Amino acid sequence: MMLLTRKMIEIRGLLQTVGQSDTLTLPSIVVIGSQSSGKSSVLESIVGHEFLPKGSNMVTRRPIELTLVNTPDSRAEYGEFPSLGIGKITDFSHIQKTLTDLNLAVPAEQCVSDEPIQLRIYSPNVPDLSLIDLPGYIQVSGRDQPPELKEKIAELCERYIKAPNVILAISAADVDLANSTALRASRKIDPRGERTIGVITKMDLVDPERGASMLGDRKYALRLGYVGVVSRLPQSPTSSLFHRGSGNISTAIQKNEQSFFSSHSEFGADSQLDVGTKTLRKKLMRVMEQTMAASLKSTSEAIQQELAEATYEFKVQYNEMPLSAETYLAESLDAFKHSFRRFAEDFGRPQVRALIKHELDQQVLNLLAQRYWNKPLEDLSPPIPEADSLKDLPKADPENALWRLKLDASTGSLTKLGIGRLATTVVANALQMHVEQLITSSSFSAHPFARKAITNASASILSDLSYDISDELEICIKPYKYRIDLEDAEWKRGRDTVSDVLKEELEVCRAAMKNVETEMGGKRKLRDVLTFIDRVRSSQIVLEGTGAGGAGGFSASLLRKGQEAVFLRDRADVLQMRLLAVKSKQCASKKNKYHCPEVFLDAVADKLTTTADLFLDAELLSKFYYNFPRELDNRLGRDLSKSEIERFASEDPKVKRHLDVVRRKDLLEHVLKEMQALRQLEAREKRSLRTD
Ligand code: GDP
Repeated sequence: MMLLTRKMIEIRGLLQTVGQSDTLTLPSIVVIGSQSSGKSSVLESIVGHEFLPKGSNMVTRRPIELTLVNTPDSRAEYGEFPSLGIGKITDFSHIQKTLTDLNLAVPAEQCVSDEPIQLRIYSPNVPDLSLIDLPGYIQVSGRDQPPELKEKIAELCERYIKAPNVILAISAADVDLANSTALRASRKIDPRGERTIGVITKMDLVDPERGASMLGDRKYALRLGYVGVVSRLPQSPTSSLFHRGSGNISTAIQKNEQSFFSSHSEFGADSQLDVGTKTLRKKLMRVMEQTMAASLKSTSEAIQQELAEATYEFKVQYNEMPLSAETYLAESLDAFKHSFRRFAEDFGRPQVRALIKHELDQQVLNLLAQRYWNKPLEDLSPPIPEADSLKDLPKADPENALWRLKLDASTGSLTKLGIGRLATTVVANALQMHVEQLITSSSFSAHPFARKAITNASASILSDLSYDISDELEICIKPYKYRIDLEDAEWKRGRDTVSDVLKEELEVCRAAMKNVETEMGGKRKLRDVLTFIDRVRSSQIVLEGTGAGGAGGFSASLLRKGQEAVFLRDRADVLQMRLLAVKSKQCASKKNKYHCPEVFLDAVADKLTTTADLFLDAELLSKFYYNFPRELDNRLGRDLSKSEIERFASEDPKVKRHLDVVRRKDLLEHVLKEMQALRQLEAREKRSLRTD
């Protein structure tokens, strides 16, 4: 009944996925032996391939948990490192290289590491076995090896050869058995020789009589016996072919052993000695099966215990709330889409309008400042003597052709600003920002992966849409570039809004002034510096040394702040004056548009906004609101593999802990059921053996 080992190996694999605890170890065959005893050759003859690290400088530094899986229905032979996730490796020299790299990754000063390397080999030619290869014992540390290496290896081996593991103690025939480190170590821990199999390698190196007597050793009698092997390939021209790691070497080794052992009567059938790799394999399978059967009960109990703990934790910590990575993702995604829908209901044309109008108000203010209210801001050095007095500048002079020209030019600048791109960008940026706010207040906030996926989804949709939409919008506003007719009502509205805009701007200006005042150290200081700068501006004095050293008893940084204050004061004056102008009777009628450029430009901005918000609401918003949730379904739903979903859910430590408990509980329940089935099977077999 080889089914048991196979099932138990499967169960071990399952238990490994939730992290095997110390109480929950299924038995393995642990291989020990001193360096050069032929340990690797024995393992390779069982596997049928060269795959273990070779080299004079102790290459096995970590335990290798080697699981052999018999695949009778497939011809393929390959290895897998489950924790590396690099898939099937069919080239055994590649496995050898990977093992060497993994071993050499342990720093030399650390000598050996407890952390096992897991390797599974699938082949129709291997038996189902679970083996652990340990670093070979060394006699004396080499020159470049740390002195404590010997002890460290011995300690590591001692930990692994504890019950219920089976010990495969490798000794070379050309070394006296009394000197075998492997047998000495196993005798210490298994004095009655109950779970040790002795393997004597290099039988070809000693005369058959001596070899035979070793196999029948009585000094350290083993219940499971000794097996003699010749596991090295004979050095023939054909053998070099096998060493390249392509073909299977078991047959060649077995043939060689067959011819060796059959040519010496000492090993004949009468001797009742166990010889040959084939015999060893059979013995290993049988012992493994028996050990597994013997451990069924204790393992079931251990699993039951673990299950009880997991169930308790699930109840106490999580109130038995079921959870899987998939449902967690699906629920998070639903909640997010829901919050997005709510946002979309509240963010429509009026919001788009406010955004665009605000942006255009700023553009209008800039144009006004540039063309109407500008007053060169003098540098302290050299002063500009004929600086226009502030009060002269903003007074309208509508009869002047220059003023007419100025208004037409400003209107042109506004309509030819690239409104299409500007408005689209402003709205797209606002949408992106809102999406990011939604992420932050969603359960995705703790998941960098999902955060990025959602941000990218919205950014890519918006950028795709923006490209065409800005061009199309530009075409929509094209007529305004040539001619703008205003209704009376539009003029009136412009007059009202621009008053508000100017008032707001005035407040901003004053607040900034207040800031500068505090920074300069108070009203008085500000006044002194302002008086000084004004004096310099109105006189023709050339100031010396206004660089780093300052001037007039003021430091350079104070003067810089002073200049800022001058700018703000002048701007506030202009704004105040224009506010009065806008409110004056003159500006009540659109006939006087040249008197009131502020009102006219605001009305133009308003017209542009109306076209833009209508268009963007229909094109950008509705398309984005349609596409975005679908794109989320793609990126966080359909396109994700199972492992990606797992990785996503585990990003949040709280969710990960919850998921781990649920998974552990489910898995232990499943394993326990399998174990119970195995125990029933085992009991039936025993009964039928008894009745036979
Ligand atoms: P390890 O260090 O214990 O893994 O030992 P290896 O398997 O690398 O073997 C050490 C050396 O002994 C190598 O040169 C092998 O070719 C050689 N060797 C292994 N088994 C046998 C055998 O049965 N007969 C002979 N003659 N040499 C062997």
